[in-house]
Amino acid sequence: MRQRKRVVRIGDVSIGGQHPIAVQSMTKTKTADVRSTLMQIRRVQRAGCELIRCAVVNKDDVRALPKIREAIAIPLIADVHFDYRLALGAIGAGVDKIRINPGNIAERWKVEEIIKSARDNDIPIRIGINSGSLPDEVLAKHGRPTVGAIVQTAKQALSVFADNDFTRVVISAKGVDVRDTIQVYQILNGQFDFPLHVGITEAGLVFKGAVRSAVGLGILLYHGIGDTIRVSLTADPVREVVAAYTVLNALGLREHGPILISCPMCGRCDVDMERIASKVDKRLKKYKPALKVAVMGCIVNGPGEARDADFGIACGKGVGAVFAKGKEIRRVKENNLVDTLFEVIDENIDI
Ligand code: SF4
Repeated sequence: MRQRKRVVRIGDVSIGGQHPIAVQSMTKTKTADVRSTLMQIRRVQRAGCELIRCAVVNKDDVRALPKIREAIAIPLIADVHFDYRLALGAIGAGVDKIRINPGNIAERWKVEEIIKSARDNDIPIRIGINSGSLPDEVLAKHGRPTVGAIVQTAKQALSVFADNDFTRVVISAKGVDVRDTIQVYQILNGQFDFPLHVGITEAGLVFKGAVRSAVGLGILLYHGIGDTIRVSLTADPVREVVAAYTVLNALGLREHGPILISCPMCGRCDVDMERIASKVDKRLKKYKPALKVAVMGCIVNGPGEARDADFGIACGKGVGAVFAKGKEIRRVKENNLVDTLFEVIDENIDI
């Protein structure tokens, strides 16, 4: 059961409460390069990204924010480290939320300036704690970025917001270690009612990164922890968005576009399944409905094994079957199998 949190509005997207878990990503361009940044945002937007974050590291980035903001359809979040003046500049530039790291904007008065400006401009703040940048005094006490060190940093940061009576807060506290991150979020979830942004930081290249994120996020989300997620990958941010929806879909929390399922293959398979499944996956990208489409390696077991799928194909030697909800509806030559599958899908759904 999802833990009920305070509702925080970010532009026209609300998180917390019973709102759907929002998918976010981060641009990997130089923010000041407006053209490249906008191209990337439009691509993630098409993939289903609901909140986008841009790094703001200098004044040129701040100057780019209004142009980016007015050209995109999803809320824009400014990610600021170290320099509170950049945070103030980003807020003034009209972003929908600001993410700061209390580990590197240490002085209380600077954080209070940011809080005041966020209040005046009616936007929320994410307190984004990162195990790689904890305050020096916390690290000195704990020796290394332990669970206790991360939680202490979060509590210290939150106390400043509480003292300033500012409640439009989202918390994240990411560690590199998956088990530590899970533990940190469990503690924060039990102690605060602010929405949580969850993710595994520095997850890795696509395959291992997606697996690591799926393990960490999957465990948290399964226990009802998390209001917005990012799958961090050393890769095109579109892949972060696809991975995030795959995690949410696997847990039955969100549907987004078609899902391809395919059998793992065994000695009964006589075709190049990887090639056929990839072909189907590619063609499915232009479809919007949350269809479940199966590609199965043999005609005898395939349709039955994928009886949950809305549509599917079961490949055989030279000939295969197109099926729907486990029942064969057409038998065609192997070469026509994929085309026939899409003919059947097109006859039955609106793209
Ligand atoms: Fe093997 Fe057929 Fe099952 Fe695929 S569908 S795993 S080929 S039995």
